[in-house]
Amino acid sequence: MHLGADARKREIYEGNPFLADERGGKKILSMKTAEDLRQLLYSIDRKGYPAYKGTKGSYRFGKYVLYIDHVQGDPFAAPSKLHVEVSGKTAGFPEQLYDKKHKRIALQDHLTRLFEEQARKYSFQAKGSGKSGILSVTRCGQEVLERSACALNPANGDIIVRFEAGFPANGRTINARELIKILFDFLPECVEKSLLYQNINSAKAQRVMELSEDQEFIRKELSKRELVAFVADGSVLPRESGISQRPMKGAVAFASPESMRVTMNLPYKGEISGMGIRKGITLIVGGGYHGKSTLLKALEMCVYPHIAGDGREYIVTDAAAVKIRAEDGRSIKHTDISMFINDLPNKKDTKAFYTEDASGSTSQAANVVEAMEAGASAFFIDEDTSATNFMVRDELMQRVIHRDMEPITPFIERMGAIYERFGISTVLVAGSSGAYFQVADKIVQMDRYVPRDITEAAKEAAAEYPGLSYPQDGTPAPEYARKPKKNPGVFHKGRIKIKTMGRDGVQLGHDTVDLRYVEQLADSEQLTCLGYILKLMEEDGFDGKKTVQEQIGSLLAQIEKKGFAAIVGKEVRNQGDIPGNLAMPRREEIFACMNRYRGLKL
Ligand code: ADP
Ligand code: MG
Repeated sequence: MHLGADARKREIYEGNPFLADERGGKKILSMKTAEDLRQLLYSIDRKGYPAYKGTKGSYRFGKYVLYIDHVQGDPFAAPSKLHVEVSGKTAGFPEQLYDKKHKRIALQDHLTRLFEEQARKYSFQAKGSGKSGILSVTRCGQEVLERSACALNPANGDIIVRFEAGFPANGRTINARELIKILFDFLPECVEKSLLYQNINSAKAQRVMELSEDQEFIRKELSKRELVAFVADGSVLPRESGISQRPMKGAVAFASPESMRVTMNLPYKGEISGMGIRKGITLIVGGGYHGKSTLLKALEMCVYPHIAGDGREYIVTDAAAVKIRAEDGRSIKHTDISMFINDLPNKKDTKAFYTEDASGSTSQAANVVEAMEAGASAFFIDEDTSATNFMVRDELMQRVIHRDMEPITPFIERMGAIYERFGISTVLVAGSSGAYFQVADKIVQMDRYVPRDITEAAKEAAAEYPGLSYPQDGTPAPEYARKPKKNPGVFHKGRIKIKTMGRDGVQLGHDTVDLRYVEQLADSEQLTCLGYILKLMEEDGFDGKKTVQEQIGSLLAQIEKKGFAAIVGKEVRNQGDIPGNLAMPRREEIFACMNRYRGLKL
């Protein structure tokens, strides 16, 4: 017995970098204690930095288990990756705070914020060279997203928080005493103050749950009442600045026009009123600077829930609504854009349109069709970011340039049929053309940030003008038959490198996927997650039979079952194999990312 323990110690003390607590999912060593870790750290103090590698493993602290999952190679490299696991019994969160998926995500989000608040206080309190002393966890924005930083197991209430720490050094010499500060003084405080129910503000946690329930209630109401979106009276739509997503101070609060006002009785907040945007075609007009784009932007982002105090927490948009815009220069891979574009002078096939450098109109056409393929329920379009010739062709132009000579059937001529045939609504911001009046079901004017229902007056005015003529082809359904070419994938998984470029894109090997114009991505961690998804698909290969739609469909089924574990390419054997910097994108953005990936062979 003692001999075994000695051998084990020796193995640890010699800094074996591959000593792991689990092999093949089976624990082969009994768990080490915090005291073991402390001894180990003393023993490697002042050694060369690589001796830190030997700390990899798991250690039982009083109320949680600390896992050191990955140790950085030197003090200037990306910080080490760790996680803590608190058992449900110890954490003690009442089940009613997480017994539904939306509640669980809201609670995880809340706990991540609490943990972050603590960690921030201690970050760089331990000193040293390079990244020594960093203590950090994901910083959440205004949206509530499912993130890998914090996972709560709904079966037993166990909580995991994944975070980073910069293992301290002087130069490249281990300063173990500083790491002891982090792991034995700071971290226990972080855990105590954020992950134990008895120590946190329980009223606040309760309100997080209540808001999440109310938001979910509104979401369900949307479908019952045939609404695309609900914007509560009193909401604050504009943001503080181009670089801050906080609410603008002193903004004009939202107030629904009487004719569009709906009331709901939320389970916790009680009665609430606001503007209901019905399915069909809604036009938002008004003078420049009157708040049109701000309203649309709020609708776009409210496919996600927002935190209390954001100003948009009672704005809820159909979760499958997609922003559509022009995107010159994107690549298009065999997308059937023939419902908008036909008979190009260069005879290019628009049923399987291919380009590495799309124009404004072809890119916007592809964006529409690809969103349909992804299952979009509504389109949000702002003329500020649209290709004019894709959106509308006025009557005079129609007279001069005959339909037969114009490859583009503009969106305005398809909008009605897209709703009637495919059930996809459109919310369109357009201040420049009255041509939309005839096709819109509802016309809202933004007047000094206050919406007014001007449907009747606008329709009356429009009746005096000659109408546009519409194509008589019944709006053919696009084909979603694109198939990635057969490709066995790679044998050695994990070889393809991915890199997230902030909110702008992801790099997969040598390919950059530009996601700047996929506007409903809320967080760079969603992009990181998309990077993993592309990598997974490339590494697993394609059977040559599944369409893009089917391929993503089966991935989504896996994600539904296994969460982030389904996304991380290599086999996930323990929680340390899942990185702590992922946020779940929507299916719509998974499609958008695949469609912009130039490396995909079709
Ligand atoms: P439009 O699209 O109609 O030209 P924007 O939506 O871009 O107008 O808004 C113009 C400006 O007004 C922006 O700077 C925005 O922040 C500000 N703004 C929008 N809504 C409000 C509001 N409710 N209260 C105060 N300022 C607002
Ligand atoms: Mg605008």
